[in-house]
Amino acid sequence: MLDPALPPPLRPEFIDLPGYDPVEPLESIANRIGIDPADVLKLDANENPHGMLPAVRDAIAGVDDYAVYPDPLQVELREAIARYLKVPAARIVAGAGSDELIEVSIRALVAPGQRVVVCPPTFGMYRFVADVQGVALDEVPRAPDFSLDLDAVLGQITDETALVLLASPNNPTGAVLSDAELRALLATGVTVILDEAYAEFAGRSFVSWMDDHPRLIVFRTFSKWAGLAGLRIGYGVFPPAVANVVMRIKQPYSVNRAAEIGALSALDHRAEYARQIETIVAARDDLAARVAEFPWLNPHPSAANFLLCEVQDGRGKDLRDALEKRGVFVRYYTRPDLLARCVRVSMPRPDQLDDLMERLRAAGRDLGFAD
Ligand SMILES: *Cc1c(COP(=O)(O)O)cnc(C)c1O
Repeated sequence: MLDPALPPPLRPEFIDLPGYDPVEPLESIANRIGIDPADVLKLDANENPHGMLPAVRDAIAGVDDYAVYPDPLQVELREAIARYLKVPAARIVAGAGSDELIEVSIRALVAPGQRVVVCPPTFGMYRFVADVQGVALDEVPRAPDFSLDLDAVLGQITDETALVLLASPNNPTGAVLSDAELRALLATGVTVILDEAYAEFAGRSFVSWMDDHPRLIVFRTFSKWAGLAGLRIGYGVFPPAVANVVMRIKQPYSVNRAAEIGALSALDHRAEYARQIETIVAARDDLAARVAEFPWLNPHPSAANFLLCEVQDGRGKDLRDALEKRGVFVRYYTRPDLLARCVRVSMPRPDQLDDLMERLRAAGRDLGFAD
């Protein structure tokens, strides 16, 4: 109906779209609950607790030509990432976070009427990106211990399935996909996108499988290990023909110049980052062992930089709230599934572990749990 007095009509499918459930900024939570941002342990977004390296900050600050557009062909960046992964540069496409590659890959690979298989609980971005592009998702829930229900996934794959989208390590559960699971999925001929945002912490990647498996695509990011989440820089590793199309249909300047400089510098300083990654992995194993002191908190095994912890009596939300009051921000999920019993805790620096343990103990007491 054309009516000049009314605002434009929206597409009806977007009116009640829930949107992505984002992490609230630190300052805004601190303000809301009246605590000093300096006292906060921000453990809700799997960011690098060491921050980015000073050398990377200097490289970004040292560029004086931000008046110039970035390289839309990403020549230097793709070559540097290719050397890092030991794959040809023609396979790499960088984006504004791997989130952009998730979106563009779905646009490139899922035709109208085709479907995408995901296995919740998993990264919320998959549903968001599919919803926004009108792509139907088939959700195959994980088992109660969060392992993949491989038979159910295989049973869900039909001629209409354009791809299976999995994270390894999975966010928020922390487990990696096994060789046997990936092999079984690829044997069906379906395209598998493996989101390896946490591969650097897991110490393993399936990128080397791509030569033998042309239907495998892998996403990686600088957000987690390199501490560049705020710059938005990630990448996909594709079969060359797919990379070619993804390059042509993505926004040409989505990787900004500061992100490009930051990523190149991070790759140049890999040895220092490797030491940070070691401390984060050690903190994870240390925290998992120490949390076992609390009979009311049960961490799931994790290969990433976070621990998903089940709370006694299913009181995930209560623990989240009690921790928030004590300045510890963790991720909580409102979904009415197994996750509502859990909180996800990102790793702090090793020197913050004692403080975290004290605040956890206090929050547990707030809830009446014995320690
Ligand atoms: C954090 C995360 C990402 C983030 O990617 P960006 O590069 O920051 O867009 C992607 N996948 C998973 C599973 C994540 O947890």
